[in-house]
Amino acid sequence: MADIIQLLPDSVANQIAAGEVIQRPASVVKELVENAIDAGATQVKVNIKDAGRTLIQIIDNGCGMSDTDARMAFERHATSKIRTASDIFAIRTMGFRGEALASVAAIADVELRTKEHDQDLGTFIHISGSTIITQEAVRCDSGTNIQVKNLFFNVPARRKFLKSNPAELKHIINEIQRIALSSPEISISLHHNGAAIYELSGTNKRVRIVSIFGKNINQSLIPLDTETSLVKITGFIGQPQYARKIFGEQFFFVNKRYMKHPFFHKAIMQTYEKILPPSTIPSYFIYFDLDPADIDVNIHPTKTEIKFENESGIWQILQASVREALGKFNIVPSIDFDQAGSVEIPMPLRNFGDVHVPEIKINPAYNPFETQTPAKSHSGTGSSFASPPVQRSNQANWQSMYKGLEPNFDEKPEPQEDEPVQFRIEEQQTVKSSVQFKNKYILTPVKSGLMVIDQKRAHERILYERLMQVIENHEVASQQQLFPETFELNASDATLLTSILPDLSALGFDIRDFGKNSFIINGTPGVLNTSSPLEIIEGLLEEYKNSPANLQEKARETIAISLAQASAIPYGHALKPGEISELIDSLFACQTPNFSPKGKKILSIMPLDDFEKLLK
Ligand code: ADP
Ligand code: MG
Repeated sequence: MADIIQLLPDSVANQIAAGEVIQRPASVVKELVENAIDAGATQVKVNIKDAGRTLIQIIDNGCGMSDTDARMAFERHATSKIRTASDIFAIRTMGFRGEALASVAAIADVELRTKEHDQDLGTFIHISGSTIITQEAVRCDSGTNIQVKNLFFNVPARRKFLKSNPAELKHIINEIQRIALSSPEISISLHHNGAAIYELSGTNKRVRIVSIFGKNINQSLIPLDTETSLVKITGFIGQPQYARKIFGEQFFFVNKRYMKHPFFHKAIMQTYEKILPPSTIPSYFIYFDLDPADIDVNIHPTKTEIKFENESGIWQILQASVREALGKFNIVPSIDFDQAGSVEIPMPLRNFGDVHVPEIKINPAYNPFETQTPAKSHSGTGSSFASPPVQRSNQANWQSMYKGLEPNFDEKPEPQEDEPVQFRIEEQQTVKSSVQFKNKYILTPVKSGLMVIDQKRAHERILYERLMQVIENHEVASQQQLFPETFELNASDATLLTSILPDLSALGFDIRDFGKNSFIINGTPGVLNTSSPLEIIEGLLEEYKNSPANLQEKARETIAISLAQASAIPYGHALKPGEISELIDSLFACQTPNFSPKGKKILSIMPLDDFEKLLK
């Protein structure tokens, strides 16, 4: 048989490599801006058209390239940044693989203009799908101006795989944020279709953070400053009372390189433990500086993961540094409990006799489980928790689980004021003997054993079905805010919110876009608890961002899921006995009471036998 193995032509090899390096327009932006920074630029301008599909242009005032280098730069593994493998462990530049330009040129139309500062003439290169079309001398500014057009023109699968323009733009904005934060001394601008998203002049870290995330963040920032022989840690952490439900203000940088590090994130969350409002994440902007020999940046071409030689050492220094900073600002509980504006620390109440659980201010007339079609007439007793009549049929099924149960005599009967007369007496007693456990589960005796209900998932299911009903029946009802709330988001969240505003208004939100990433909430869906609409919006964006892409295509449903998740009663929230039975009632009025909208199990029954076995 004839030999069949051949070397791939460079253009094919480059295209394959491009699949690794360039996943989306944002990857091009990242690679090219990093090249500008490596070239010593103090000014970088980024112009984007159609979220990068049509044009990505980066203009820098860095060192520029000679005509031979300009040609060479597009070869694979061509780099000026390292010479030997060991250089990787002394790396201070962003790039070193020499893959980016070759990859970009393999899958797009690239025009490069570059000139060194001491030259009169520069070089122009036009290269498309790895083929050089032109190279000639030109008059141009010192530095480099690179235009990438028609990205993925020869990789239709990749092009098709791109998400909507707002989603792709959001990725680009995220990359620019990371770079802008890692190199605050560099002026950087981002324009999309001619409109400015960022125009940031070179400054220090604090001012850069404020100019990206809005002036409100300024008062929250606590500086970090710790230097040890292993690592230097600088930057800022946010005060716990400013922590938000939304990810997006958490950044680690190592030797000016952005990195993701779930383990160090955990270190920070641990330090903040007990001083954060429930399910919030503190902001942090943390810069590690250490000997490049102590880290490995060569994990993956997109390089956001970094391995540390002495990870546990850094973990400890990081925690100490954060703790010290919180302590200096009287935030750590052991230092000062009474400080005005300090945070609530949850404590076990049983040892404290008469201490009252602090109550959240609520509108007593407002009922989170109430539906659009109040069921008062149907229940006949004025309990607004009852479910819409159409769904009553399911309820019969769940009530049958309680049949045959003995009334629980250990429990004093609750005052019967508002109780709908809809169960037989023993069922009522049993539902009433349901208890909340760890402020997270509801335990309720059923015929075959003990049913455990996850309270948050249950409430998610209830809200989700109500929201879907609003969408399907077009019965939008908005609850107008007495005091419309204005808020500012960072650019990427603002783009996301703008893109889903029409869907949100179909659900009953009345939110107006003010421009400059500011919004005002005038109204919220009638079916939701509206005590803090901003929190719901933040929670919604967070859930939505983390939904799988295929779900995001079914935008309304995903928004309904995300909204339900964001507004469901959180774990840790104590329920009154009346609320517990209403929750059970509403849950079993749902079409699918067993699973949360994201498909997680809501309830399970521990069989009687198991109890007997337990006690053998
Ligand atoms: P790497 O950055 O890993 O070295 P690239 O493919 O991104 O690989 O770039 C190849 C080379 O081209 C770089 O090493 C650098 O010498 C040169 N280069 C790329 N972009 C610029 C720029 N904006 N200014 C000056 N030189 C550049
Ligand atoms: Mg590079």
